[in-house]
Amino acid sequence: MKTDEKLSIRIIRKIVFISIILICILTIGVKASKSEVNYVTIVFPEGYETTVMTSNIKIADILAENHTIILPDEIVYPDINSNIDLTKTITISKITEEKSVVSEQVESVTTEEILGKYVTVTEKIIVEQVEIPYETITKDVSKEGTETNDKVLQEGVNGLKEIKYKAKYQDEVEIERNVIAETIIREPVEKIIQISTKITSRSGGNRTVVSPETLSASVEGMTPKVVKMNTSAYCSCAKCTGKTNGITSSGAHAKEWHTVAAGSGYPIGTVIYVPALANKPNGGWFVVEDRGGAISNNRIDIYMGSHSSAISFGRRSLECYVYE
Ligand SMILES: [Zn+2]
Repeated sequence: MKTDEKLSIRIIRKIVFISIILICILTIGVKASKSEVNYVTIVFPEGYETTVMTSNIKIADILAENHTIILPDEIVYPDINSNIDLTKTITISKITEEKSVVSEQVESVTTEEILGKYVTVTEKIIVEQVEIPYETITKDVSKEGTETNDKVLQEGVNGLKEIKYKAKYQDEVEIERNVIAETIIREPVEKIIQISTKITSRSGGNRTVVSPETLSASVEGMTPKVVKMNTSAYCSCAKCTGKTNGITSSGAHAKEWHTVAAGSGYPIGTVIYVPALANKPNGGWFVVEDRGGAISNNRIDIYMGSHSSAISFGRRSLECYVYE
């Protein structure tokens, strides 16, 4: 049984083999007699290619013959309904890839167009008012190494100017601005600060010693009024003042060779230089720190530490430099 079966299978195989060969020979013969045979290259989207032998000339037929199915997202070149051309190549590619390439090209062209021809630039005249900040000038008339006071001699005021611009806009965005005119409406006023040596009155028991140098420095740059005055001296005794505490009418503690009492024409704090007393401990420099009921404006009373020194000073008519 087994031997018989093997034999029959062999016979069937032979028959099939011979028939295939016969069919092939017949087919080739028929086709060869019909038209010429071409070698056509089919290029697939994946990148590989195959060369087939065909007697067909229509692309659709060549593809069908080779069981090549075109998917909806694929495209055939040359057109599937045309005949094979001289290149004898059929290229199958993905539609999406081609589209993306096309859109990129469109984009680049659009960008160039924007930069080139289709940009609209508008011009506008803009007027702006701008403040001109004032400058601060400092005049230092203080003596080096002394405590100083800042005094504003003049307050600063900002100026104002009008600036006219020509501005260029591209799609509402300013791209260029040029000044075409500038007009000053108001000039700024500079601020002037004077730094001078602090004049310390010894008020409230704060006994700060004011040196003659400090006093002279505090009036540096000022022009004194030169007046001949009747000068006398006093002390804190009851005979001289009617008070005994040595506190002057300015509230400052009277100090020998420093404090003077003067008439109301000379404000408290007025510095007076008496050249004739330049050899005294204060170098001749006094400060009006007291008042006296009987003191007229051409008279000063110099404070002394003791009644006897006040008496011995006596009365003198002396030239005074008054710094107000
Ligand atoms: Zn006295």
